[in-house]
Amino acid sequence: MRYDVVIIGAGPAGNWAAGRLAAAGLAVAVVEEHRVIGEPRFCTGILGARGFDEFDLPGQAVQRALSSATIYSPLGRSVRISRETPQAYLMDRAVFDQLLAQRAAKSGADYWLGWRAEAIAIDPHDARVTIRDHAGSVTLRADACLLATGSSHRLHAMTGLAAPTEFLDCVQAEFAAGAWPEIELFVGRSVAPGSFGWAVPVDERRVRVGVCVVGAALPYFNRLLASPALAERVGGPLTPLRKRRVPVAPAARSVADRAMLVGDAAGQVKPLTGGGIYYSLRCADLAADALIEGASTGDFSRRGLLGYERAWRRAIGRDLAFGRYARRLLAWSGDRQIDALVGLCQRDEMQALIARSADFDAHHRLFVELFRSPAFWGVLSRGLSGRRRRAPAPAWAAGAGEGFDREGAVVTAPSDSLAAL
Ligand SMILES: Cc1cc2nc3c(=O)[nH]c(=O)nc-3n(C[C@H](O)[C@H](O)[C@H](O)COP(=O)(O)OP(=O)(O)OC[C@H]3O[C@@H](n4cnc5c(N)ncnc54)[C@H](O)[C@@H]3O)c2cc1C
Repeated sequence: MRYDVVIIGAGPAGNWAAGRLAAAGLAVAVVEEHRVIGEPRFCTGILGARGFDEFDLPGQAVQRALSSATIYSPLGRSVRISRETPQAYLMDRAVFDQLLAQRAAKSGADYWLGWRAEAIAIDPHDARVTIRDHAGSVTLRADACLLATGSSHRLHAMTGLAAPTEFLDCVQAEFAAGAWPEIELFVGRSVAPGSFGWAVPVDERRVRVGVCVVGAALPYFNRLLASPALAERVGGPLTPLRKRRVPVAPAARSVADRAMLVGDAAGQVKPLTGGGIYYSLRCADLAADALIEGASTGDFSRRGLLGYERAWRRAIGRDLAFGRYARRLLAWSGDRQIDALVGLCQRDEMQALIARSADFDAHHRLFVELFRSPAFWGVLSRGLSGRRRRAPAPAWAAGAGEGFDREGAVVTAPSDSLAAL
């Protein structure tokens, strides 16, 4: 079977690109290994308001508007960040992906659901993608293929492209809960080294709890669940616990002859938070521009597609670079420093700085302002001398917490998990 473009993966990146290409009249196939798009659900589903301003996205997937959050330090301090208008929206990710796919299918994209792409061969005339379901295999031929495979990087090498190399390990599950007014974030080296933990209320009955860390996330997840901050308020699990790696540094190259990477497959993810929906959409839009251009010139060579690489690096490269730096600073900072940073954010002048420059999807503005602030460096350098004195882990993090493993069974955090800090 021959197409103009074969897209592998029906997440936000693949579906968005498919919609654009099909609407432009290209013959598009989307190959998705799962029978139901968006399942299994693993993502929290927060998308900044900017995504809805920039793109025509399905509002039916939105579960609630988000305008505030409280950030907790590992040593007990907290700071509340709040705005008058929604800064982001919580979505049902499965519904979001399905609605994008429906739209692309309506424009003419062919969906191969329940088919896994197993091999790619690039030759001077074609990209050939071999896909398999339970009954056998089929080879789809196309001018080019777009790898939107999320955190699965098995196919990259077959196109001559390398996979991203830096990752956060993330776990999340949904739990029963009572009224929960707003998002709670938990930071600290002993809580979630290199990133953060979260409790995101879905409605009056449910909360999504998760952590992303450098290293293995499950022990930190279990300890967060067992912490006084959550133990009393979180009920039984409503979903299995899902575990997944998120790339937090871009792939060295995203374009080869007749092949491109997009979304998590290209490492187009916010390095500090692991958030990738907005970047996936934005970069998929740019990938679609390059492929539409390729279809008009007939040039799908690496050189012909390079405009995509330049465009996405121009669009989000600065945020990725600042985010990586900030993540390393966070991973390096001890609990005392992070506690002091949270304390700093309580001050009026910092609240004003955050209100002025924080942007859910463009992190570099906030970092530029922070890095210009003597108070910020004061806190970090005071922490530098304090780093030699190891900060005490919060009392709740010191014990072996009980929690849930991948399948939802109760497990105990390894007693040596603090040694990893
Ligand atoms: C716990 C957790 C919470 C998160 N929360 C947020 C959040 O709140 N906000 C945010 O912006 N980001 C969040 N993210 C990140 C976000 O989920 C990803 O950045 C986003 O899903 C990337 O979209 P994508 O289309 O690139 O990949 P994906 O959504 O991962 O889609 C890839 C698709 O490709 C399919 N696939 C892979 N290999 C093959 C193959 N060989 N053949 C066929 N199909 C294949 C997969 O089945 C999948 O459907 C979170 C991530 C995790 C792990």
